[in-house]
Amino acid sequence: MLNKAMSNDPSQLVQLDAGNAAAESPAHSVVEKKALFGLDAEQLKELMAGLGEPAWRGRQLAQAVYHQRVADVEAITTLAKSLRRRLAEAGWEVGRARIAQVFRSIDGTERYLVECGGALTVETVWMPEGDGGEAGDGSDSGNLQGRDAEPLGAPPFPRSSAERMGSHKSQPESARNAIAVAEKGGQNWSRATICVSSQVGCAVNCQFCLTAKLGLQRNLTAGEIAGQVVSVLDRQGVEVGRDRVNLVFMGMGEPFLNYSSFMGAVRLLVSEVGLSPQRMTVSTSGIVPGIERFAEEPAEMRPKLAISLNAPNDEVREQIMPINRKWNIEAVMDAVRQVKLRPRERVTFEYVLLGGVTDRPEHAHQVARLARRTGLPVKVNLIAWNPGPGILYAMPAAGSVEAFRATLAGEGIATYVRRPRGRDIFAACGQLKRTVER
Ligand code: SF4
Repeated sequence: MLNKAMSNDPSQLVQLDAGNAAAESPAHSVVEKKALFGLDAEQLKELMAGLGEPAWRGRQLAQAVYHQRVADVEAITTLAKSLRRRLAEAGWEVGRARIAQVFRSIDGTERYLVECGGALTVETVWMPEGDGGEAGDGSDSGNLQGRDAEPLGAPPFPRSSAERMGSHKSQPESARNAIAVAEKGGQNWSRATICVSSQVGCAVNCQFCLTAKLGLQRNLTAGEIAGQVVSVLDRQGVEVGRDRVNLVFMGMGEPFLNYSSFMGAVRLLVSEVGLSPQRMTVSTSGIVPGIERFAEEPAEMRPKLAISLNAPNDEVREQIMPINRKWNIEAVMDAVRQVKLRPRERVTFEYVLLGGVTDRPEHAHQVARLARRTGLPVKVNLIAWNPGPGILYAMPAAGSVEAFRATLAGEGIATYVRRPRGRDIFAACGQLKRTVER
């Protein structure tokens, strides 16, 4: 549940309403705040039944919270005023994750600080036109007019302004939404990708990742994970069912170390919000018990799977991903083979190219051999490493990304290059660290 509190830095983040309300209310009227957002339709029905209301009122609540994206109980006009008042008196609020701050990249990417209780925020990223990582994965989500991948070095999505948005603290949500839509000048993207966080920080400690510097601070709840998505859909005026929006669970955290909440969020997003699991991809560093659990999920509720491989062999992988000492590449692949893939579906290997460490020509051949050895339909997404403060790796040399891609492609492995998005605002892969620029 979202608690309401101030950030460490009040000049940068928004103080939330409920904390104030609790402080200002007379002691006798203070009630514990409870979030509707995060409850599924059954739980909402039970809640209504507990208030002596018919079960279909729960469906109305779900419609309001997840479809109409109403953010305030008082604004749920499908419920009688007296019922809204009773809900509020019982401490119920919508309690959806709220965007506290927005950073906009020159390439149109937006990075959001999203409040999730206490002084903690997580980061969520909106990438108009995606980053090419969606291509060739067996769904139609990334393929435009038969084109599978963006060519290396493709120009960024054109946007007019390099303006940093700053805090929207003084604006009501409706005004912010209106501004967002106006800023888009109508819808000037044909598809988009939202990168979602599953934990505050991360315990996996990949050596090339800024998020790892935070350590694990807290797991997010299912409502907090799904709330990031709905808040961004709302801000961008996305019409579910019409607009092509992909989700990647590749933000802060390791989703498979917060499995129940992650899958709880997926169920909310599929069943209540109406998004397709075939437009969702979850990336894991290789948490074998999580992959095995994931293999048991029904196809109609299962996102696609990406393995954050990042190395051509165990020796290199252990250096840059200590988790490999617990579950090596072979153990991970054994688990992945248990996932029953849908027709045309492929498993993605995400591969970060670190200059001189993972980007050598022989590494490309090793990755191709590894991919073939798995016997799985795979594709490889190459990501040129994004620099971050305090991380002592180098970007791959000019030309080595294309050479790596060409080698893999030459060996018959479907390979795509993810375009870096939002580097200037620390929104790119591996850069999410609750960074607050001034
Ligand atoms: S790359 Fe992913 S799993 Fe690894 S430390 Fe960063 S957030 Fe965690």
